[in-house]
Amino acid sequence: MTFTVNSYAAFSKDTDLVPHKLERRDLAKDDVLIDITYTGICHSDVHEAHNDWGTANYPIIPGHEIVGVVSAIGDSVTKVKVGDCVAVGCLVDSCLKCGPCLADEEIFCVKVSTKTYNSPEPHFPGHLTAGGYSEKIVVRDHFVLQVPKELQAPELLPGVAPLLCAGITMHTPLTEHHASKGQKVGIVGLGGLGSMGVKLAVAIGAEVVVISRNHKKDSKAKELGASGVLASTSKEELEKHAGTFDLIIDTVPFDHDVNVYIPLLKNHKTLVVVGHVGPFVASPISSTGLIFGDRRIAGSCIGGIKGTQEVLDFCAKHKIISDHIVINMEEVNDAWKVIGDTASRYVIDIAKYRESNKKA
Ligand SMILES: [Zn+2]
Ligand SMILES: [Zn+2]
Repeated sequence: MTFTVNSYAAFSKDTDLVPHKLERRDLAKDDVLIDITYTGICHSDVHEAHNDWGTANYPIIPGHEIVGVVSAIGDSVTKVKVGDCVAVGCLVDSCLKCGPCLADEEIFCVKVSTKTYNSPEPHFPGHLTAGGYSEKIVVRDHFVLQVPKELQAPELLPGVAPLLCAGITMHTPLTEHHASKGQKVGIVGLGGLGSMGVKLAVAIGAEVVVISRNHKKDSKAKELGASGVLASTSKEELEKHAGTFDLIIDTVPFDHDVNVYIPLLKNHKTLVVVGHVGPFVASPISSTGLIFGDRRIAGSCIGGIKGTQEVLDFCAKHKIISDHIVINMEEVNDAWKVIGDTASRYVIDIAKYRESNKKA
């Protein structure tokens, strides 16, 4: 038995998203049915749908920043109950038995980590997983997260959705590299990811400096709690900050010169890349800044389920949500065209979409 929900789907790399009747699997014993309330728009949604990474399988129903309400559970589910306010991030399945899974890093499952959309659907042969640009989603209980009470207020909830991708993506390198009170943390780029990174690092108690090409984002950076902006094109400013950072997280999602950031680090400290850039071609990475100072370059990929719950709990404690702009489902194609222009995350009002479909 399956059921049908309304969704928006991409059917090719160069066409708009269009309304689509999506078939979902019925609940297995460990499944949770969620009536989606809000879904955040992530830059990855656009990249996947446009096949920028060569991994697209159509149709694509994007969306991996999901909050909603549990409307049914399978017989063996104990993690959540009907009526709970819950969330789903970038992952919906993995083997739960291998080394990485047992280490709470389901994203690196050696068998297969199933992405929330555009992955083969292990419980629904012949189908692809389909994300939050839809009225409802069925998710294995392990991958469902609790939205803390403090974040459930109606005015906060849309800003919770982006925590499921942007939040965890920035939280993981901050914890992995032990960002702590009094340290100096650099955040390169002030888009959706960078903005979240600033808020989280400030809440940890770090001094946060935004590293940007120029000073256009000075006031935004300060508004988020950063002490200021370092313009990476200014030789003078680079010299002034040289050797002073405990950690730098680079969120730039395209090829760029990372060599300018390395000398900003103290000795033995790390530059973490979170943007999925592929090879750095424009400016090859030089060993000089790495060797003379024993500095490191590392990567970081989203995070596991335990870490995602931790970021939600951390954000509840520190009253952090993402800056956001709520839109209607019908506006999603327009939002995709301007997604890079703002540090605020676009969030789709799915509850409203579901209600309007009921009336239609
Ligand atoms: Zn994302
Ligand atoms: Zn595994």
